[in-house]
Amino acid sequence: MAIVRTPAALTAAVAAWQRDGLRVAFVPTMGALHAGHLALVTEGLRHADRVVASIFVNPKQFGPAEDLDRYPRDEAGDAAKLVGAGCTLLYAPSVETMYPPGFASFVRVAGLPDLLCGRVRPGHFDGVATVVSKLLAAARADVAVFGEKDWQQLAIIRRMAADLDLGTQIIGAGIVRDSDGLALSSRNLYLTPDERQRALALPRALATAQATLRTGEPVAATLAAASTALAAAGFARVDYVELVDGETLGALDAPVPGARIMAAAVMGTTRLIDNLAI
Ligand code: AMP
Repeated sequence: MAIVRTPAALTAAVAAWQRDGLRVAFVPTMGALHAGHLALVTEGLRHADRVVASIFVNPKQFGPAEDLDRYPRDEAGDAAKLVGAGCTLLYAPSVETMYPPGFASFVRVAGLPDLLCGRVRPGHFDGVATVVSKLLAAARADVAVFGEKDWQQLAIIRRMAADLDLGTQIIGAGIVRDSDGLALSSRNLYLTPDERQRALALPRALATAQATLRTGEPVAATLAAASTALAAAGFARVDYVELVDGETLGALDAPVPGARIMAAAVMGTTRLIDNLAI
């Protein structure tokens, strides 16, 4: 697998494949790859002949008190996993390449970033939209695959790609979970064994809420019970448990087609997110 480190090299490699009539899928990541990331590569191969992944720990999407410095990094290990999954090119630019001196542009999607995670992570989704627009503009791939685990991010990227005519089709891929139900996340590495065990309350609370809502129970009481269950399991802070429209992310007081239950909560020092379709 070749590794390129500049936008020009990425553009040239993808364009060369496309000139040969091949379709190209792009999978942006921050590395510390797990089976959830590799499933995005597999999904990419369903839509394209070649898959390009990127690894870039994007400083612009971390708040000042967040984990940028300790975010796990293992390019060699990640590259081996990508080869095994069928990826043919890795784009791994430096921070200086992505944001050279004088860099002054931001991409901001209106509305969606103010909800849910955006309320506790101000500026986070501006950083995401900025880096993803740069990545998509450089790759010019036919499709790009993002995980439904970051449902709000996926909604924002869909909006942005449509609004800005980026020309890459955005594809969502289902959440990959450990056998016990915890959604895979690079940040799960931060959890102690005890925290990892208690964190199972998150997928369980969502599954219980999903089942309860399907029986027609009231939304407010169901969400409150889920929040209480998270606190009882030892989550230090519950940022939200909400039923939302999957596209607009607006809060719902009754399930509708496309509704999702979304949650974010902090276990120890680790903020975890999860979501389920109703
Ligand atoms: P990250 O490296 O955490 O920025 O994630 C890169 C991509 O992988 C994003 O599109 C995420 O939504 C996706 N992803 C992360 N974890 C999972 C998971 N457990 N299942 C599916 N996709 C995931």
